Amino acid sequence: AKELGRNNYQFYDPEMNELINRRAQLEKGLRKALELNEFTLYFQPQINLATGHIIGNEALIRWHHGELSMISPADFIPLSEETGLIVSIGEWVLRKACEQNVAWQKAGFSPMRVSVNLSARQIQQKNLVENVTEILQQTGLDPQYLELEITESIAMHNEDYVIAKLHALKKLGIKIAMDDFGTGYSSLSYLNKLPIDTLKIDKSFLSDLKEGLNAEICSTIIAMARNMRLTVIAEGVETEEQLRFLIDQKCDEAQGYIFSKPMPVEEFNLLFRSIEES
Ligand code: C2E
Ligand code: CA
Ligand code: CA
Ligand code: CA
Repeated sequence: AKELGRNNYQFYDPEMNELINRRAQLEKGLRKALELNEFTLYFQPQINLATGHIIGNEALIRWHHGELSMISPADFIPLSEETGLIVSIGEWVLRKACEQNVAWQKAGFSPMRVSVNLSARQIQQKNLVENVTEILQQTGLDPQYLELEITESIAMHNEDYVIAKLHALKKLGIKIAMDDFGTGYSSLSYLNKLPIDTLKIDKSFLSDLKEGLNAEICSTIIAMARNMRLTVIAEGVETEEQLRFLIDQKCDEAQGYIFSKPMPVEEFNLLFRSIEES
């Protein structure tokens, strides 16, 4: 550490400088990552709690950057949203996820849904609906197997525009899920205006079920979803205790490390085979 006295004013913080450098480096890398084929998709199974069957999976992007090795989406998705790169990255993710789902169906595995994260920037894109339509046509995926995950903040601005967009997407026959539900600042009346099919309980409510009001919040969301005829899925399920609780509360579906971490395609294939053989 630098020998800076208590009364020395620093004009800049070397650590801050490093952060800015890293950010600039990330942004440069991000611009090239699509061309260089550095992205891959991982898939995490979603389980129907009544049957125990895998009924879907969430597609999650991974970035294998040449020098910096694997970079978490939590680090580069926000940056790609700020820079607008998320639009082309998001389109790549959607196409890849649809292609993979069709490939699994062609390989003879039972059809399942694929959930793809859609960022606010993508929804503001004028040609989003056309792009989704085109990707469905080109990949041949039956729209009923595609679900787009949005977050509550998606319609903070331009509410009517977003609602109209979501209706247009639903008309294609795809599903819409509200991700990280309960963490945003939206009102329940707003929820009622959005044409959604699925509520995804945020993983923060699953942790420490015995502390505070988390158990009450989970059971309230589950009951509300039931009353609204929505499917409800819990994410971030890690323990037997959490799973028990969700089954008791009759939560429809769950996703989390207790079943599996997000996996590359080859591992997902092995999982399918082992299930079919058992
Ligand atoms: P998310 O959409 O809420 O995705 C769930 C995150 O929870 C994933 O992190 C997943 O790996 C992690 N997770 C799954 N099961 C468990 C569990 O049992 N315990 C815990 N603690 N975590 C679990 P990941 O893959 O690092 O993604 C982080 C976030 O990055 C995502 O959060 C999403 O907001 C964003 N993201 C990832 N892929 C995409 C993408 O293709 N497009 C967009 N727009 N955003 C993406
Ligand atoms: Ca998600
Ligand atoms: Ca989530
Ligand atoms: Ca999130």
